Amino acid sequence: MSTSGNIARRASARVSVGPVRVGGGAPIVVQSMTNTDTADIEGTVRQVQALARAGSELVRLTVNTSEAAAAVAPIRERLDRAGVGVPLIGDFHFNGHKLLREHPDCAAALAKYRINPGNVGRGAKRDPQFAEMIEVACRHDKPVRIGVNWGSLDTDLLTRLMDENSTSATPLTAQEVTRSAVVLSALGSAQRAEELGLAHDRIILSAKVSAVQDLIAIYRDLAARCDYPLHLGLTEAGMGSKGVVASTAGMAVLLQEGIGDTIRVSLTPEPGGDRTQEVIVAQEILQTMGLRAFTPLVVACPGCGRTTSSYFQELAQSIQSHIRTRMPQWRREYAGVEDMTVAVMGCVVNGPGESRLANIGISLPGTGERAVAPVYEDGEKTVTLKGERIAEEFQELVERYVARRYARLG
Ligand code: SF4
Repeated sequence: MSTSGNIARRASARVSVGPVRVGGGAPIVVQSMTNTDTADIEGTVRQVQALARAGSELVRLTVNTSEAAAAVAPIRERLDRAGVGVPLIGDFHFNGHKLLREHPDCAAALAKYRINPGNVGRGAKRDPQFAEMIEVACRHDKPVRIGVNWGSLDTDLLTRLMDENSTSATPLTAQEVTRSAVVLSALGSAQRAEELGLAHDRIILSAKVSAVQDLIAIYRDLAARCDYPLHLGLTEAGMGSKGVVASTAGMAVLLQEGIGDTIRVSLTPEPGGDRTQEVIVAQEILQTMGLRAFTPLVVACPGCGRTTSSYFQELAQSIQSHIRTRMPQWRREYAGVEDMTVAVMGCVVNGPGESRLANIGISLPGTGERAVAPVYEDGEKTVTLKGERIAEEFQELVERYVARRYARLG
């Protein structure tokens, strides 16, 4: 058992994915997945760089064809040349055994393999194909995520459990049997992988489903029955606010119970949308729960009838984006800057109070109030801004505050 914030974390084995530690009390790892064609080397490198820059600590690529498998090592090389060391994970289904066998450079370049036990092959082919993938993982000393998915559950296992249930004196519902099949598929596959020689501390489990209550029930069960690190995520979470809310609702309950060692928020991007959004949402879930700090938090009031112009929203947004833009450099230069809170408040009702509680805060004038904006630093009013350049001057004050308040690294 370890603690993060005030939350007692479930004890789990520690798995090394390249230089990144997952489980065993390590900070909860944020990961993401590309949606480029992996065979498109340039496009995939660009997206991995963007995801890593946004804060993704592991990035998964689909490896679904020979062309995709052939692209993995060149992608790794280009990222290394660009100084982007984020570990790459290969997502394999159906033909993973063949691709790993025929592309040893791909097997070597990846830091982890994701294997879906429901998609490794049907009938008599399933066991040998699963075994071949595990043998490659052992040979290359790579960890594996056994990633069960409700939508591609091992049909033989589910049919057997349904048959057994139908003759039981106290039959379960079909939903309960399916939940149980998801858990047994993950645990049974992990056991099989260990029998094939994969070390206990080279296995991570996930059991992704698309409904929040199923997710919670399944992960509670998994957490109670093993000590493998758990990768949390809701699959097919959806677009926009629905995806964000569903992922947060499911994961927050489990994280609060100490369950979850790495998370991915699977958002369907809007057409032309930014893939890095899923990384930001994952970070915000962990940061708002007090489990990790990634970037200074902007505390902004929701606005109301006292803020009749859009000026207040514009300032809150410009501060938020200024912080996100500056954070990569701040993180390299200043220790602990990610813990900073910045308040942007709309009027005198709660403005001074919230601004005093933040590291640095500004209380803007509400409708009908005098056109001045007091700024508070560490609880004390330091200056009052007025005029056309309040936004720029406040950003400069934030810059000066960071330079003064946080110790320089290196
Ligand atoms: S601080 Fe002022 S503007 Fe913001 S929500 Fe409260 S009353 Fe409204």
